[in-house]
Amino acid sequence: VTHHRYLIVGGGMCSDAAVRGIREVDPSGDIAIVGAEADPPYKRPPLSKGLWKGDPLEKIWYGTESRGARLYPGRTVAAVDPVHGRVECDGGESFTYERLLLATGGSPRRFPFDDGGVVHFRTVADYRRLRALAERGKRFAVVGGGFIGSEIAAALATNGKEVVLLFPGEGIGGRVFPPDLSRFLNDYYREKGVEVRPGASVTAVEREGEAFTLRVEGAGAPDGGKVVVDGVVAGLGIEPNVSLASAAGLAVDNGIAVDEFLRTSRPEILAAGDAASFPSRVLGKRVRVEHEDNAKAMGKAAGRAMAGAPEPYLHLPFFYSDLFDLGYEAVGELDPRLDVVADWREPFRKGVVYYLRDGRVRGVLLWNVWERVEAARTLIAEAGPFRREDLFGRITDPA
Ligand SMILES: Cc1cc2nc3c(=O)[nH]c(=O)nc-3n(C[C@H](O)[C@H](O)[C@H](O)COP(=O)(O)OP(=O)(O)OC[C@H]3O[C@@H](n4cnc5c(N)ncnc54)[C@H](O)[C@@H]3O)c2cc1C
Repeated sequence: VTHHRYLIVGGGMCSDAAVRGIREVDPSGDIAIVGAEADPPYKRPPLSKGLWKGDPLEKIWYGTESRGARLYPGRTVAAVDPVHGRVECDGGESFTYERLLLATGGSPRRFPFDDGGVVHFRTVADYRRLRALAERGKRFAVVGGGFIGSEIAAALATNGKEVVLLFPGEGIGGRVFPPDLSRFLNDYYREKGVEVRPGASVTAVEREGEAFTLRVEGAGAPDGGKVVVDGVVAGLGIEPNVSLASAAGLAVDNGIAVDEFLRTSRPEILAAGDAASFPSRVLGKRVRVEHEDNAKAMGKAAGRAMAGAPEPYLHLPFFYSDLFDLGYEAVGELDPRLDVVADWREPFRKGVVYYLRDGRVRGVLLWNVWERVEAARTLIAEAGPFRREDLFGRITDPA
């Protein structure tokens, strides 16, 4: 059994931020990270963006060790024993702690029928695998029209691959964008050479030598219901990794449930990042956010709290993505089922989309409009009520 003052389970983006947070308060206390991946903490966003545009792989590493954290990579924590302040790994190793942070992130949803050939894209290991496939293959199927699917489809197409993008919904990003924008994106991707197949459900993936055959059903299925490719990437969303927490008796509510101080139902154990759900004061509800800004800000706050400087986590995280030459930043709840007010400067190319509930702005999408995240946060914090006409021109592009 090895003892560490601060122990972090999970070696992802949030854990690196937690180490920084601890170090702001405690310059020398002993920190360890136990992480399932073989790689040290790194930035995930470049895996589907910059690395496909020529950025070097070296740029992704955080260098968390240089802040004096001891890394135990390649270890999966199998159990947490809160009574004895101890965690146990799959291989039998165990660690004791004074303060514990669960930063276990999320795991990609998988096809039930995959034999291991599909890349369920999440890690740098998945990136390396897809790169190797892209070295030899020419035609790729990308399944899922959300963040990962849309980014990987663009990345592969930009690298000269033939891409078939399949998803059951009507449009790319249909869970966050209003329907007209989402349909525009289907056409935009087609213009970029991607074969976009909305309304297509993949029911099986069969492998024969180096080739894969996808069985496809639904209105968007091709004639014959088959797509044959050299590689398959899936972006089907993630499930938060909560099983350790629930087995340890910690409260779980769409994620490991924490309070404003990021404490689980056992106050000496904290949780943060994609795995954790927290009460958002400004949104007035418990949320779980699967984005970088949240992983960083919440991880840092958790680290500071572990080292004895707790403060309520009031940050409203933003997120962003790039879709070929289009890009956006967004804040709050982007749910197209809310009342949507679109203020386009140039239809679907540049503008701001507001998402309202009961006259309050709950989310803002800044579409090719930059440096307006703070203005969006301020608007979301305002009581309103807002009418459509109040919002036109409210957040404008500085340019
Ligand atoms: C390809 C890709 C692109 C992205 N692009 C963007 C973007 O453009 N913008 C944006 O805002 N967000 C983006 N994200 C999301 C962002 O990366 C995540 O929000 C962030 O990584 C969450 O950090 P985390 O530390 O909570 O979880 P993770 O980074 O997932 O780290 C969790 C770690 O915990 C480990 N772990 C889990 N269980 C155990 C266990 N029992 N024992 C030991 N270790 C365990 C996992 O192996 C993993 O390494 C992207 C994500 C991906 C995958």
